[in-house]
Amino acid sequence: MTVSVQAVPILSDNYAWLLRESGSGAVAIVDPADADAVMPAIETAGRLDLILLTHHHLDHVAGADAVRTRWGAKIVGAAADAHRLPRLDIAVREGDTVPFGQASARVIDTPGHTRGHIAYFFADGAVLLCGDTMFSVGCGRLLEGTADEMFASLQKLAALPDETQVACGHEYTESNIRFALTVEPDNAALQGRALEVKQLRSAGEPTVPSLMVQERATNPFLRAGNAGRLGEIRKAKDGF
Ligand SMILES: [Zn+2]
Repeated sequence: MTVSVQAVPILSDNYAWLLRESGSGAVAIVDPADADAVMPAIETAGRLDLILLTHHHLDHVAGADAVRTRWGAKIVGAAADAHRLPRLDIAVREGDTVPFGQASARVIDTPGHTRGHIAYFFADGAVLLCGDTMFSVGCGRLLEGTADEMFASLQKLAALPDETQVACGHEYTESNIRFALTVEPDNAALQGRALEVKQLRSAGEPTVPSLMVQERATNPFLRAGNAGRLGEIRKAKDGF
C-alpha cells in the first residue's frame, strides 16, 4: 500500500495534485483551483474521496466547491483559516492525521506565505503537498507572515526524509534557479539542477515533484541558516 502523486497543470503556472492510495483505490485532489481543468484527471481515476486545501488563495481553492458537488468528496483545510476557505468538512491543525484509504497524511503548520497555511505529508509514498510555502529552489512570498515564521516552516519541511517528493503549488523552478545562482553561483548541485530543469521545460514536462534531498542541496531558502538571512534573500528575490 502506498500513495502516488501526479501533477495536474492548471491556470497559468499552478499545479493541482492527484493522489492515489493503492491499497483501497482512494483518490484525492490537492488545491483544485480550476474545476474544469482537474475533472478529466478525476474522471480517469473514477472516484474522489478527499479535496485537500493548503491555503486560502483563490488560485488554490476556487474550484473546490464545484469538485465537491460533482464527486461528493470531503474538503479538508486549516481550522485556523476556516473563515476564509470553502466550507470545510474536516478542519485540521498541526499534528492532526487525515485518513486516506489505508494511508494517512500528517498535517504540518507552515505559516509565512499566509497565516493559516498547512502542508500534508504522506509517510507512505513519501509525498509532501506544500502549496506555496516551498517551491523547487524557492519559497513563497511573505504575504501574511514573517521571515521567522517562514524559516521555522521550511526547517520543519527540510527535516522530512531525503526521498520525500516535494509537490508544490507552482511551476516557478526556472526563474527560481536563475535567482538562486545569484546567491550561490558556485553550487554544483544547483548548476546540475539548472541543466535538468532546462531539459524538462523544453520537453514541456513539470519540474516537480522534486526530492527533498535535492532541495536541501539547491534551495537557498532551506540553506539560509537563520531567519535573518532568509529574510534578506527573500527581499532580494522580491526585487529580482
Ligand atoms: Zn498563495
